[in-house]
Amino acid sequence: MKASSQTSILIIYTGGTIGMTRNRETGALESFDFEHLRGNVPEMSNFDYHIEAITLNPPIDSSDMEPSHWAKMARLIEKNYETYDGFVILHGTDTMAYTASALSFMLQGLAKPVVITGSQIPIGQLRTDGKENFLTSIEIAAAKDKEGHAMVPEVCIYFESQLMRGNRTTKINSEGFNAFRSFNFPCLANAGIDIKYDTHLVRRPPSGSRLQVESAMDNRIIVVTLFPGIREDILSSLLHVESLRGVILKTYGSGNAPQKPWLMHTLEELCRRGVVVVNVTQCKTGSVQMRRYETGLQLLHAGVLNGFDCTIEAMVTKMMFLLGRNLPLDETKRLMCQNIAGEITLPNE
Ligand code: ASP
Repeated sequence: MKASSQTSILIIYTGGTIGMTRNRETGALESFDFEHLRGNVPEMSNFDYHIEAITLNPPIDSSDMEPSHWAKMARLIEKNYETYDGFVILHGTDTMAYTASALSFMLQGLAKPVVITGSQIPIGQLRTDGKENFLTSIEIAAAKDKEGHAMVPEVCIYFESQLMRGNRTTKINSEGFNAFRSFNFPCLANAGIDIKYDTHLVRRPPSGSRLQVESAMDNRIIVVTLFPGIREDILSSLLHVESLRGVILKTYGSGNAPQKPWLMHTLEELCRRGVVVVNVTQCKTGSVQMRRYETGLQLLHAGVLNGFDCTIEAMVTKMMFLLGRNLPLDETKRLMCQNIAGEITLPNE
């Protein structure tokens, strides 16, 4: 039973390595239930918080994550929003950055922490990184400032001592414990002996705003990575799919594409059809600047939008989110180039 002044945290367990066990016959790691995970973290009972857990049934490897799972998580947070001070989502690392990005768009007006974490080694194993990630995430989700406001009322990823804005993250390592990086935005906090928050970087909702969940996603989109030798016949057949509503073009450097007339015609034609086409760079660090080179300017003239320094994970989910709102095309395009959840830095910011 919760004491009225007690901080309360809701854990949403979705699966992932953190809670997995090894199948004796196949030797492969499989998702397991939350009780198994809780049993391996007796330290949880040392917290002075009221902690409850909900499992997304069945727990999954995050490679199986779908927009419908994001919607379920968003609705769970909405349903429990008034009861809890903060939320911790346990999630597989493979698509964690997509989930974090999707939730940052879906949970509008969020004023409470949603900290997503997982691990590279299951929590039942001796050298697990899961315990530290899990326990510190709970502490961050519960942290408040002197006025009693949440320290980080954002959707974040906590991993290997770093708290990052969720929609700025990318998984960069399939082996090491430092699995995530936020290349284009500094960390919101670093956990050492103390947890040091960079409070001026934290995004806060305008005062008085209420949580509003928008969970519709339109996934009629595609990501196209440019490479030397890309072929017209193959790309055209992909982009001629009638239901297509959005294309994310992964270009070179500061947003450049080869100067092939067929490519420009294909892109112009897409934009004329009302398909939203946006330019993000294949580089991990830095921003698209379409006026820098002739090879970028031609994309701008074809009607391609600037994705600035957005990660691919944030751009995929932002596009699904904006298309899911069924706004007039001009408004969708306008919002694509705006910073709506801290996911991009505009040149004048
Ligand atoms: N395949 C796992 C998952 O994403 C990997 C992990 O959790 O680290 O669910």
